[in-house]
Amino acid sequence: MLLCPCQSQQTYTNCCEPFHTNSQQAQTPEQLMRSRYSAYALTLSQYIFDTYHSDKQAGLSLSELEEWAKATTWLKLEVSKTSDTTVTFIATYAENRKLYKIGEHSRFEQEQINQQKVWRYVDGDILNHQALDRPKRNDPCPCGSMKKLKQCCGVKSKLI
Ligand SMILES: [Zn+2]
Ligand SMILES: [Zn+2]
Repeated sequence: MLLCPCQSQQTYTNCCEPFHTNSQQAQTPEQLMRSRYSAYALTLSQYIFDTYHSDKQAGLSLSELEEWAKATTWLKLEVSKTSDTTVTFIATYAENRKLYKIGEHSRFEQEQINQQKVWRYVDGDILNHQALDRPKRNDPCPCGSMKKLKQCCGVKSKLI
């Protein structure tokens, strides 16, 4: 039973998978944002591309999205605030054996696609983006599991 990478505490099957497989559409900006976070965690770059607003897609490169998703290990997501069209969140990720925290205020819009109204990501303001001290093997894992780094995300994040 795979828990969803978006840390909803639900199984992947009951959370972001139906969006990734296109069997359901996200009903709220938060659902879409979570599914995009999970898609980064699972390197589903086509999904990340497809869920950008159509106005933005021309300026995107699928291979760059893929490279970024591959280079990063997404460890933690905290959604701090939502409105009808926005989501504010803090995400923690590892890249190149370093740990980072990024806060973003994201904007979403509904678009009409195949006779359906679907939520799409427009853009976001980065609120902060900082490098954190690299945790040691026996420190608590930055994913928030309460386990030690070495017993949790240490290997997959390449932090140890
Ligand atoms: Zn999820
Ligand atoms: Zn962990």
